[in-house]
Amino acid sequence: MPGDYDIEYASPWAGANYMPFSARDTAAAQWDRDTWPDFKDLATNHLDAGVHFQGCRMVNRKIDMDKTYPFTGGKVDANPWWSKVFDDFRYLDPSELTEEQHSGVYFTSVCINTSIYLPWLVSQCLANGVVFKRSIFEHVSDAAAPGIHHSGHRADLVINCTGLSSLKLGGVEDTKLYPGRGQTVLVRNDAGCMYAQLGTDDGESEMMYIMTRAAGGGTVLGGCYQSNNWDSQPDPSLANRIMKRCVSACPKLTNGQGFEKLDVMRHAVGLRPCRNGGARLEKEKINGIWVVHNYGHAGAGYQSSYGCSKVVLKLVEEALQHQARL
Ligand SMILES: Cc1cc2nc3c(=O)[nH]c(=O)nc-3n(C[C@H](O)[C@H](O)[C@H](O)COP(=O)(O)OP(=O)(O)OC[C@H]3O[C@@H](n4cnc5c(N)ncnc54)[C@H](O)[C@@H]3O)c2cc1C
Repeated sequence: MPGDYDIEYASPWAGANYMPFSARDTAAAQWDRDTWPDFKDLATNHLDAGVHFQGCRMVNRKIDMDKTYPFTGGKVDANPWWSKVFDDFRYLDPSELTEEQHSGVYFTSVCINTSIYLPWLVSQCLANGVVFKRSIFEHVSDAAAPGIHHSGHRADLVINCTGLSSLKLGGVEDTKLYPGRGQTVLVRNDAGCMYAQLGTDDGESEMMYIMTRAAGGGTVLGGCYQSNNWDSQPDPSLANRIMKRCVSACPKLTNGQGFEKLDVMRHAVGLRPCRNGGARLEKEKINGIWVVHNYGHAGAGYQSSYGCSKVVLKLVEEALQHQARL
């Protein structure tokens, strides 16, 4: 639940920001596209949600242009489809790049302070009459059992949003899931802008990103994407590499005084719920109960969230209509 910091719960550990990396003309690109208006609205009209606008500078190095990255599942795209999403998207002028950089873009996106945003989502649900209960289910259909739902009756439908745990959840046991371990350093220093670079000199599972969270939430320095690594503990050597890379990309973080001057709040590890073939948005009947699946969002669970919820709503309506006809 929001407020908990457990390795089984990915959401609090995210940066989080809206910075699409889905491939052109895919379902994932459509989910990302359909999510942006909602985050733009939150940052404009709902300041209590902990989401704020922030400039974002993404650069690509010349030596990385032909590499394939586990994080994006593809090569660096110097001309992304999402250039049309942002009002102020622009390609960086060569005069704004270093000798080793191939290209770059700048746009204003949002950064989400997850420690405010997740409880805010709970309060939105409470205001709309949602009843919360805490329980661990062995089997997905247990969530529909009489006595679990506050009506006392068997539920008509279950929406399965159990992330990486759908690997083990009875009735689902989706072996396409695997962890994409992410390690970050949360600091008090302010970057003033988001920065990202996919390639580093430290191997293809490592990258560089910086984002300052809304409302005093600190600045998240990242990171890595280590497939099939379940380790919940921060690796101190990796933390050092992350801090050095981030200060090198944005010396302003410590006013040019080196990475030793970072003011560290916390070292953190989260497991992205990755899935071969992408997130699963599907409905199926399990033990006579309609289940709508919405899991496996890897490193895009926030930036695809509202788009996915629109698909889930459609699947729920289809399932309930089908049920009503029987
Ligand atoms: C370091 C890091 C950085 C990231 N940065 C970004 C970013 O900038 N932008 C972005 O869009 N995404 C980002 N992500 C990805 C994003 O955090 C995830 O995609 C998203 O949080 C997944 O949400 P979820 O609700 O599907 O899963 P989770 O947050 O893991 O939630 C699963 C829930 O299911 C519950 N559950 C599981 N099994 C059971 C069971 N058997 N019974 C009862 N309950 C159960 C858990 O308790 C939990 O509440 C990042 C992730 C990490 C780790």
